[in-house]
Amino acid sequence: MTTDSMLKFVQTAKRMPAKRAADARRQDFDEIYDEFVTDHAAEQAGRCSQCGVPYCQVHCPLSNNIPDWLMLTAEGRLEEAYEVASATNNFPEICGRICPQDRLCEGNCVIEKGFESVTIGSVEKYITETAFENGWVKPVKPPRERDESIGVIGGGPAGLAAAEQLRKRGYQVHVYDRYDRMGGLLIYGIPNFKLEKDVVERRSALLADGGVVYHPNTDIGSTVTLEDLRGRHDAVLIATGVYKARDIKCPGVGLDGIYPALDYLTASNRKGLGDAVPAFDDGTLNAQGKRVVVIGGGDTAMDCVRTAVRQGAVSVTCLYRRDRANMPGSQREVANAEDEGVDFQWLSAPEAFVGDGRVDGVRCHRMRLGVPDATGRQAPQVVEDSSYTVDCDMAITALGFDPEDLPAMFGAKELEVSRWGTVRIDFRTMMTSLDGVFAAGDIVRGASLVVWAVRDGRDVADRIHDYLAAKAETASARSAA
Ligand code: FAD
Ligand code: SF4
Ligand code: SF4
Repeated sequence: MTTDSMLKFVQTAKRMPAKRAADARRQDFDEIYDEFVTDHAAEQAGRCSQCGVPYCQVHCPLSNNIPDWLMLTAEGRLEEAYEVASATNNFPEICGRICPQDRLCEGNCVIEKGFESVTIGSVEKYITETAFENGWVKPVKPPRERDESIGVIGGGPAGLAAAEQLRKRGYQVHVYDRYDRMGGLLIYGIPNFKLEKDVVERRSALLADGGVVYHPNTDIGSTVTLEDLRGRHDAVLIATGVYKARDIKCPGVGLDGIYPALDYLTASNRKGLGDAVPAFDDGTLNAQGKRVVVIGGGDTAMDCVRTAVRQGAVSVTCLYRRDRANMPGSQREVANAEDEGVDFQWLSAPEAFVGDGRVDGVRCHRMRLGVPDATGRQAPQVVEDSSYTVDCDMAITALGFDPEDLPAMFGAKELEVSRWGTVRIDFRTMMTSLDGVFAAGDIVRGASLVVWAVRDGRDVADRIHDYLAAKAETASARSAA
């Protein structure tokens, strides 16, 4: 190990890539962080103390070999750093941008206490962007082609990571998606200011160059049935994500001007991609000139408030029933939203939407946190006589997502689901209750993170390979007998 370039955390302060000023950020949908310049990336990577037991790696869902790629970056050996970073992650430039690092790798970096963590995500992004610039990122070229084919339902991160891993083994891979573009929530959920869309499209194009065949605008369950796919392919992977918005139950919820978060974000993302979006152009799903209230405290709510700011909302208020310390969204995103002018009202929950036909206010209760429940989480309780009203012209509900009714959607009653509607799998084989049908990503875990979808996609590709290899072995033993 070369230590000369490492262990610099005492003399070198933590430095993130330059962040654009909040006023400038409010004017457009561009990403908010600049790229690291080479010297800074090497300097920041050199702050790592090369732990014997690297907690950063333990807390990365992909078990990325973080200390090694940091050392290679500090030594200027960037092509090798890219080899190491891409060995365990299909989309390191995407995870580097949007993983909640404060809860994962960086939040567990041992130098966090007192010296602030190594900027792992930014270095991961830097390494991979450098690799793209230098032509080191190449499409998959399998050593040999195999006859067996796999049908993947859903071109989100789980489906695409599985597709790439299966192509590496030479399988014929077909990805079916009901949308017109591949990427799932990377394209239509997550806003541009966190993840620019050409970054996602560059990846999906690379997979296509490597032989993955896409079938966009193909809704499995309506245009093609699950049974058709099982007939066409040797194995099928369900990676459909979770899309059913959780309802809010309070008076006035049927008023005009109240929208689910994903409808709002999809319209904004489509607009940014240059699509015709009538519901945006006619002002319905557009916050310009409006007083906007967003209800929820997760990443989706953070994306909505920051989108509304950029669309030119007059005011943006976020209501969350717990306090800041207990919100599910990333603290880094809250801080960004605050800088951009969002008003957070913690310990506030809607009591009713008010208005005559159209929403013009949200009546709220003040909340307090009660005693911790069995999970250790403090339940929010209403404070008596604490009602107040926030005026608004548009309300966006961001209370999370549940799975659609997959057995009904696919006409496959035998497909077992949990009581939450997520697809049940055997955790050793990752196979569902249907032979040769596997599942991965949010549709198994419930709404989660991109990095977990990538992890699941990689794992399920291995399990599909095991299944097909065992099948081939049985077939050849039979024909030999
Ligand atoms: P998805 O990305 O949802 O992809 C599923 C795909 O399946 C979609 O393309 C869909 O069109 C397709 N599909 C569904 N049904 C069918 C069908 N019947 N036929 C054909 N195709 C179908 N995670 C992070 O790590 N960081 C973040 O900053 C972050 N921000 C987020 C912001 C928002 C607004 C949202 C909603 C989520 C965010 N997440 C974030 C979570 C992350 O996006 C998901 O965990 C991840 O995308 C799940 O991947 P997936 O492949 O399982 O599903
Ligand atoms: Fe950290 Fe995510 Fe990269 Fe893992 S994939 S090292 S958690 S940024
Ligand atoms: Fe380096 Fe921090 Fe990981 Fe230790 S925990 S290896 S200091 S990045």
